[in-house]
Amino acid sequence: MSESVFFDSHAHITSGELYGDINDIIERALEADVKKIININTDKITFERGLALAERYPGIIYNSVATTPHDVEELGEKEFSYFESNLGHESIIAIGETGLDYFYEHSNRELQQQFLKRYAQLAKQKNLPLIIHCRGDGAFDDLVKILTPFKLPRVLLHCFTLTLKDAQLAIEKGWFISISGIVTFPKSVELQNVVAKIGCSRLLIETDAPYLAPKSKRGKKNEPSYVVETCAKIARLLDLSLDQVATKTFENSLSFFQIKDSRILI
Ligand SMILES: [Zn+2]
Repeated sequence: MSESVFFDSHAHITSGELYGDINDIIERALEADVKKIININTDKITFERGLALAERYPGIIYNSVATTPHDVEELGEKEFSYFESNLGHESIIAIGETGLDYFYEHSNRELQQQFLKRYAQLAKQKNLPLIIHCRGDGAFDDLVKILTPFKLPRVLLHCFTLTLKDAQLAIEKGWFISISGIVTFPKSVELQNVVAKIGCSRLLIETDAPYLAPKSKRGKKNEPSYVVETCAKIARLLDLSLDQVATKTFENSLSFFQIKDSRILI
């Protein structure tokens, strides 16, 4: 029997896809020893649900909020000040996901950059970490250019799929990297190589639920309990035990998000 506990650093559990089944999803997470979940809120509705949910599950559900880079054209301006004025709730432990998506480019690049700067400024002001989504050619270079002047002490590249060189530069800058179920896909050779090379000293794990279910659950809606499979894959890549990777990524998450509770509560 393992005593491993797991930390899902990125899940959209108050999204329309998952919220209808929320009690069962949290129950299955706890049964799988996924003891903490960062719920990523991307609009007013998910955010309001997230705050209420965290009150029902204190010490288990935490919240982060921002308009995604995809949606800044439609929602960025409309919701920024609402998010800004509701950051006082104690379950809010990060700003994000914000960033740059040049792959889909659902919103124009200049506007994505503008909101990235606004959220970086907000994170600095509130002393909160920033959760970053970064995808597409040229996005990482622009991200580094934009974020460096802010000198943010806590930056997390979520659902990392960039190159080894990018990972090494991020780590040099003191940033953390979060690995999703993508690492379990047979075709993800480059990402598997990145993990094998960088080790788990600055690694977090996540589901990005409801998206990106790991290999054995492909085609299903992803949920926090499935983060265990991603952790097991990372352990195999690093030639470590599941417990070692679970413990290290759990500790990394507590320290990154500055969650001040002890293992006694877990
Ligand atoms: Zn996400």
